Amino acid sequence: MRAMIFEQVGKPLVLKTIPIPQPAKEQVLVKIISCGVCRTDLHIIDGDLKRPKLPLILGHEIIGTVVKSGSAVSSLKEGDIVGIPWLGYTCGKCKYCMANHENLCDNALFTGYTIDGGFAEFTVAHEKYCFPVANIFANPSGSPLLCAGLIGYRSYSMIDQDAKNIGIYGFGAAAHILIQVAIYQGKKIYAFTRDGDSLSQEFAMKLGAVWAGDSSKPSPVKLDASIIFAPVGSLVPKALEDSDKGSTIVCGGIHMSDIPGFSYHIFWEERTIRSVANLTRKDGEDFLKLAVRIPVKTEVQVYPLEAANKAISNLRNGKIHGAAVLVMKGSV
Ligand SMILES: [Zn+2]
Ligand SMILES: [Zn+2]
Repeated sequence: MRAMIFEQVGKPLVLKTIPIPQPAKEQVLVKIISCGVCRTDLHIIDGDLKRPKLPLILGHEIIGTVVKSGSAVSSLKEGDIVGIPWLGYTCGKCKYCMANHENLCDNALFTGYTIDGGFAEFTVAHEKYCFPVANIFANPSGSPLLCAGLIGYRSYSMIDQDAKNIGIYGFGAAAHILIQVAIYQGKKIYAFTRDGDSLSQEFAMKLGAVWAGDSSKPSPVKLDASIIFAPVGSLVPKALEDSDKGSTIVCGGIHMSDIPGFSYHIFWEERTIRSVANLTRKDGEDFLKLAVRIPVKTEVQVYPLEAANKAISNLRNGKIHGAAVLVMKGSV
């Protein structure tokens, strides 16, 4: 099969032909339709996330078709369309798994980081971490749901359900999905982008934001809750300044630059800052059902597998509106 291989921190991916992997017990072999490119992939390439498997196939927003199972009895059968997310395996035994916090599992494996992912024509995945995917998402438009959508949803589920005015800092793949969920539930969205990024601001307004502007500008209203997707630590005190009493600020990224010091008074009055990490299978199942009900429409810019480096550099340079997705030849 053809795969884009990550061999060394800071180096572009290399197109190679390698053997098709074989599923072990409780795994399935999946023929990949598409795989999204996520900011986390940039953090792995840049060495911000330490100790990746090397060489590695990146990619954790996989839509594909089950080809065969490594188990005699499997809940999945040939031809099933599945989505494969970032969380690729949990042990089921550690204290986090036992307390329904499998997203924090001590022994977790992560797709496209500590196990091979989806920048390839095939992959193997643990059955339990393959989500059923509805027909409307059985194509490249479904890929961004698997991380951008899921992490956005998990971040959103951490804020007070009564919050009305919600700030989103960084309007990329996660935000463009989350805004649809939030508006569906009657929320008002204030979208903050890189200063001068009028294209992203227009994109946010097109998707129904009540306001969009530069993140250096003060929010036009005090926000009941905020979600920060941009990996920029200085947005934390900025979001605090924009926030109302009792509000929660959720950092949705896996990596962020250092958070600068700030004065206690912008944090006081029962404001909360928290992060989210990974996802649980329940997040995946709940979100993928909700996404069908809304129904979420993702905006994708597609690239062939061999153009992965181009997709990565466009994401890095803020040239992607919506999500970048690699599509395998002959899959759609
Ligand atoms: Zn565990
Ligand atoms: Zn991701």
